[in-house]
Amino acid sequence: MTHAQIRCLTAPNASPLTGTGTNTYLIGTREITVIDPGPDIDAHLDGVLAAVGSARISQIIVTHAHRDQSALAKRLRARTGAPVLAFGDAFSGRSPRMTALAPHLGSGGEGLDLDFEPDLKLVDGDRICGPDWELVAHHTPGHLGGHLCLALGQTLFSGDHVMGWSTSIVAPPDGDMADYMASLLRLSEGRWQRFLPGHGAPIEDPIARLRDLINHRLQREASILAELARGPARIPGLAARIYRDTPATLLSAAERNIHAHLIDLESRKLVFASPAPLLDAVYARP
Ligand SMILES: [Zn+2]
Repeated sequence: MTHAQIRCLTAPNASPLTGTGTNTYLIGTREITVIDPGPDIDAHLDGVLAAVGSARISQIIVTHAHRDQSALAKRLRARTGAPVLAFGDAFSGRSPRMTALAPHLGSGGEGLDLDFEPDLKLVDGDRICGPDWELVAHHTPGHLGGHLCLALGQTLFSGDHVMGWSTSIVAPPDGDMADYMASLLRLSEGRWQRFLPGHGAPIEDPIARLRDLINHRLQREASILAELARGPARIPGLAARIYRDTPATLLSAAERNIHAHLIDLESRKLVFASPAPLLDAVYARP
């Protein structure tokens, strides 16, 4: 069941936030399932169609509605007639907490695909069948509320939930840190052999990688609490002290990550936010 041929095409959209570019995966040889068509770039569409050749794309699965993953779905569907499967649109699965904060926050800033609409909606545990293999959908909210990972036996297409080259961005209101941690913990109960991420190289030691990511977030949380123990602070000051070695181009992403932690800490009553857990609030320990 796990012997289906898997090919990876990396889109030409390298950047500080996408690493070497978005990975588009093709499963199968004659009946092909595409996971994450990628950004809407002519050269990438041509590359996918050339790789498919005389075979047929039977379905297009999207892990989440960020443009670098999903935007090409529309043209690929138009060219091939294949249905698009995903959890939902860009706002599906958003947590109640982020829904309440969203009007005060704007976008998480990572390129929501506002036009995205799947033909078929997947929920946790759904099975998607190929000719001689089967994918299982795992709803893994956190990076985005509607994020899915897809399991092919012990191989997991991990999207942006677990990436090969960097930690994931969790930027409110699109991202939710409490959900992200819960999704990491849930995946770490699985028996995985390797992860094929939305960006970066295959992860051959996925359980260790999950453990590292969980520890990384716990350490980040501890750093924030330690900084706040010295006195009340705002997010830019915390980011400058905690992300000392981060290049300037990534500092706003770092600030949004800290904000995600602070919202989670506030809801756990470990931190106070005045007047509310927004980007420009003052944060303090109780
Ligand atoms: Zn993403």
